[in-house]
Amino acid sequence: MADAPDDPRPGQPGQLGQPGGEARRSQLRPETVAIRAGRDDNDRALAPILWATTTFVTPTVEEGRRLATMAGSHRFYSRYGNPTVRGFEDAIAALEGAEAARAFASGMGALSGVVLGLCSAGDHVVAQRQLYAGTQLLLQSVCPRFGIEVTFVDATEPGAFAAAVRPGETVLVLAETPANPRLDLADLDELGAIAGPITVVDSTFATPLGQRPLDHGVDLVVHSATKAIAGHNDATIGVVAGARDLLDWLWSFAVLQGANASPFDAMNALRGLRTLGVRLRQQTESAHRLAEVLEQHPHVAEVRYPGLDSHPQRDLAKRQMNLAGGLLTFDLAGGLDAGRTFVESVRIAQLASSLGGPETLVTHPASTTHVSLTPEELAANGIGPGTVRVSVGLEHPDDLVADVLQALDRIA
Ligand SMILES: *Cc1c(COP(=O)(O)O)cnc(C)c1O
Repeated sequence: MADAPDDPRPGQPGQLGQPGGEARRSQLRPETVAIRAGRDDNDRALAPILWATTTFVTPTVEEGRRLATMAGSHRFYSRYGNPTVRGFEDAIAALEGAEAARAFASGMGALSGVVLGLCSAGDHVVAQRQLYAGTQLLLQSVCPRFGIEVTFVDATEPGAFAAAVRPGETVLVLAETPANPRLDLADLDELGAIAGPITVVDSTFATPLGQRPLDHGVDLVVHSATKAIAGHNDATIGVVAGARDLLDWLWSFAVLQGANASPFDAMNALRGLRTLGVRLRQQTESAHRLAEVLEQHPHVAEVRYPGLDSHPQRDLAKRQMNLAGGLLTFDLAGGLDAGRTFVESVRIAQLASSLGGPETLVTHPASTTHVSLTPEELAANGIGPGTVRVSVGLEHPDDLVADVLQALDRIA
């Protein structure tokens, strides 16, 4: 992984949150930008202000009309926009190197807003096969109802996305990297080079500090900020960032979709964002150590972690990711029984969905979230009977390693 300090990324002008909104072009490291971004509109308060209001008083009819029709208006009615939410949107735009961002009520709010806001009946979408389950269901079940056809491709196969594009018909190309659950990578340069359709990357697993899809020419980046960005399992919120004209277009659908972010969740997401740098660095360090321990263990058949030399796309990970992140996936040789025993035997890690928070969480998809699938369907989703996904938290790594080893000992 490239070391972030050797790789300064310019932030956006005017997004440093100086009292009085002083605009400065920033050559600061992203971790530094994350500390103060999103507070241009913060009066003299140091911490983000919670604007718990649904509506705003308009001084004149003329001003009311201007605010009602202005894309991204954040002092009219909170479904249209809200100053606290706007602060979070500005911060994400600054970190992603985007002109604008729009926050949504959840990651799925953001993804459904992008797909249904940009596609119409008769349009074609290219998406990768291994996706977050909600995204997969949206594309597989909802899109056909609206006459939107979706072609699924293997994201790890070079050129697969571009080959599936139908000129004049494909409106959207959707990728997720690293992808749930096997941490397969999609090549951001390849996606950025696709001309015609709008390219979208769900970058939730990487976070804005782990990779920057827009730098590679991708049009839109999406995050479930519910995960590592908010980072404390106390806010459900999503966000999309990209060029202003695209975001204005998305906004006009989003105000009708109504999946706007709550100001309270936006405030918590801004609070989380300030410590994303240290959290991600620690989680990467602990995950790497855990991955190495697991790789040596006789019960473990395979470990998937983008920071390991054994990852099949290790060179791509080095090229496009700054940090390998806190997620790892492994396969237990003992299959279904071994997986179930493992996730029920951990004591510090806990069995729960979600990821990116301070608590280490484990999931065993074959016996929980994906229990209704056949072995063939599981395999198509990259899930084996003994597949376990770990979201490494902020506990001391010695305690985590000991916990994982004692749980592995319980497997017959
Ligand atoms: C969690 C997640 C989502 C959905 O986000 P919500 O905030 O739960 O709606 C989408 N994509 C990925 C990769 C996720 O991990």
